[in-house]
Amino acid sequence: MPHWNPHKSQMKLPHELSVNPMFALEGEDAVPRFRMRDQGMLPETAYQIVHDEIILDGNARQNLATFVTTWMEPAADRLYAESFDKNMIDKDEYPQTAAIEERCVHILADLWHSPHPESTMGVSTTGSSEACMLAGLALKRRWQNSRKRQGKPIDRPNIVFSSAVQVVWEKFANYWDVEARYVNVTPDHLYMVPEQVLSVVDENTIAVVPILGVTYTGLYEPIAAIAKALDDLQARTGLDIPIHVDAASGGLVAPFLQPDLVWDFQLPRVKSINVSGHKYGLVYPGLGWVVWREAEDLPEDLIFRVSYLGGNMPTFALNFSRPGAQVLLQYYNFLRLGKDGYYAVQKTCQSVAQFLSAAIGNMGPFELFTDGSDIPVFAWRLKDGYTSNWNLYHLSQQLRTYGWQVPAYPMPPNMEDVTIMRVVVRNGFSMDLAHLFLMNLKQAVTYLDSLDGPMPHQTKKDNGFHH
Ligand SMILES: *Cc1c(COP(=O)(O)O)cnc(C)c1O
Repeated sequence: MPHWNPHKSQMKLPHELSVNPMFALEGEDAVPRFRMRDQGMLPETAYQIVHDEIILDGNARQNLATFVTTWMEPAADRLYAESFDKNMIDKDEYPQTAAIEERCVHILADLWHSPHPESTMGVSTTGSSEACMLAGLALKRRWQNSRKRQGKPIDRPNIVFSSAVQVVWEKFANYWDVEARYVNVTPDHLYMVPEQVLSVVDENTIAVVPILGVTYTGLYEPIAAIAKALDDLQARTGLDIPIHVDAASGGLVAPFLQPDLVWDFQLPRVKSINVSGHKYGLVYPGLGWVVWREAEDLPEDLIFRVSYLGGNMPTFALNFSRPGAQVLLQYYNFLRLGKDGYYAVQKTCQSVAQFLSAAIGNMGPFELFTDGSDIPVFAWRLKDGYTSNWNLYHLSQQLRTYGWQVPAYPMPPNMEDVTIMRVVVRNGFSMDLAHLFLMNLKQAVTYLDSLDGPMPHQTKKDNGFHH
């Protein structure tokens, strides 16, 4: 292969290539995939190539698999375009962005009934995954520090969650050498049962992590009951085991739709909470938050102070540089929507979810697992014995022919024989779209029911869906 020749490449000046249609240009019919081209191309050509290629991606509005925001209003888009150059770590250079981040932390602390919302500690992150890592690290360090003070070994920490936990917690346990202890979900209880929590905790448990809005089904785990069980345990044995609530999806739903539900810092045992700003916080990806109950819940020895940006800023984060625009968008939403607005958005999503789940439950082939009354997410299975010609993976594929992306996937270990399908209703999935979706779902079922024989064998392995 000839070497790139800088002299030769300069001979072909870009303006000489400015011909339309651009794909008729010599050499541009084949764009190398895995090596950089010797010569550049016109911005419009590069744009067109990438633009055309992502047409093959699914359409975000019809993506009923994701929890992540795909639509914001025009004023938010304008703000985004004005601030995409902001680096969140440059707090000394962008002090106002930093101040707005702080404000959002206190707003969240207040929504979650922190005892001292004006002084609560918290940070923004790239998403709940980073937020969970930070919360988990704080819990591990807090446990280590307390064990050291008592002269006890610190080599075998464990952490407890349900088998329906989001993959980030398995990562946390794996990456930071903490043993994961699972409480299995079963068909009778699709959530972590308090009595079973008690059977797996011990003096090495750094925390119990219930989920507010289980990824698989949308259910809230019974956090107050788990806290009560741990209170009783402490009264009996002295063991004081903290709770972290993974409220990735429920943290900005429950305060509006279930204001009387006690799941947050009202429970003294809840030491930290995370939420994804880019889920029901209604901000484009990637934004997460983690808030600690009180300063002592975030061990001082995890906080770094960096001087090379000017100033002396405390930071606790895995990333250094990271976009700041999403933080501004979160504050935009807090201002723009207020509590009434968040209520209206989440309530609309819930109404659409409940409308759809009722209709799907009444269709005949399906049995609902959840109906969207916790977070606006619901899941269903195919009734036992309904058909041997098709399954939910086939249905998922049929729905794709209409552009809808609805995942089918197995339940977690212990229930992995059960396949379910899930719809996440997000802002922008209107009642009008819901009616169209329902029509296409019925058409897909009619088609599958009309088959004379079974569809080709298909398993979870080829469906490619990941939480
Ligand atoms: C989505 C989710 C996560 C991961 O959050 P990201 O913001 O996607 O990183 C963690 N836990 C739960 C319960 C989730 O639903």
